[in-house]
Amino acid sequence: MSSQPIDTSRIEFRKAATARECAWSTEAVLELLAMPFADLMFRAQEVHRANFEANQIQRSTLLSIKTGGCPEDCAYCPQSLHFDTGVKAQKLLELSEVVEAAQAAKRHGATRFCMGAAWRSPNQRDLERVAEMVAAVKNLGLETCVTLGMLEAHQARQLREAGLDYYNHNLDTSPEFYGEIISTRTYQDRLDTLQHVRDADIRVCCGGIVGMGESVRARAGLIAQLASLDPYPESVPINHLVRVAGTPLAAAAALDGIDFVRTIAAARITMPRAMVRLSAGREQMDEALQALCFLAGANSIFYGDRLLTTSNPQIVRDQALFAKLGVSATEIS
Ligand code: SF4
Repeated sequence: MSSQPIDTSRIEFRKAATARECAWSTEAVLELLAMPFADLMFRAQEVHRANFEANQIQRSTLLSIKTGGCPEDCAYCPQSLHFDTGVKAQKLLELSEVVEAAQAAKRHGATRFCMGAAWRSPNQRDLERVAEMVAAVKNLGLETCVTLGMLEAHQARQLREAGLDYYNHNLDTSPEFYGEIISTRTYQDRLDTLQHVRDADIRVCCGGIVGMGESVRARAGLIAQLASLDPYPESVPINHLVRVAGTPLAAAAALDGIDFVRTIAAARITMPRAMVRLSAGREQMDEALQALCFLAGANSIFYGDRLLTTSNPQIVRDQALFAKLGVSATEIS
């Protein structure tokens, strides 16, 4: 049994997320994506304002605690061993390095500290070290999130007992398109890990990547899958592919900005109470496109100079954009 106190906000979220009127089908999401843009944005705003403060954005900082050398073959990822991208494999960071980075993130206004490791799945020794990191970061008064690959049920429980708030494990894309992107783990493997995380009473951070050459139907399929998880994830990162030289998707056709905004709006409408995070790819977006994403219901960003291995807009640029838009940062509730 978990030693964590009962968190009533988890129960409230589940009640609200489970009481939705119907699960979302790919067809229903396709209809959303095809709406006139102004109508779609209006609907997304209505949903957003019914569930969140309209002008608040949550900030998370992401630290790569173990970079590169990953045996998986995710076609977008510069950390895969299968592709020659110049990313060198590194060892798991020391606890002190992680704590120092978390302290800096907190000073800069982050409320959640996410730690990512490029593993297929953690071995027991590494998991114990990550559990220590989780406990130390939690002690600083930050929410904690880790992404470590596939988890077994007992590993999820161990992380929860260390104080983990969120586990990130993305579905990446629709089940139909998935085989074009990854061959070393199945969609079902991902769903199994998500179930272990839920069973351990850890909040789920789960989203996907768009701009990988997928069809509109595949984008709709991803959103429908996420929205049909029961309950849907508390946190939904929508990543825009960063085309990294050396990966199979280095030359993927660019996704139209308006189509990206439509995807964000569909995530907001189908998962009303989720934090929808504008994640990878933000550095390539101008301010107007980011503003449209916020208008479409994105209310969380990664904040800091780098994501796992790709660069991220500098903190000062984000602060300037927030000021320009009259947006304030969300504190931990
Ligand atoms: S996305 Fe994650 S699992 Fe896939 S290759 Fe990159 S680090 Fe490994």
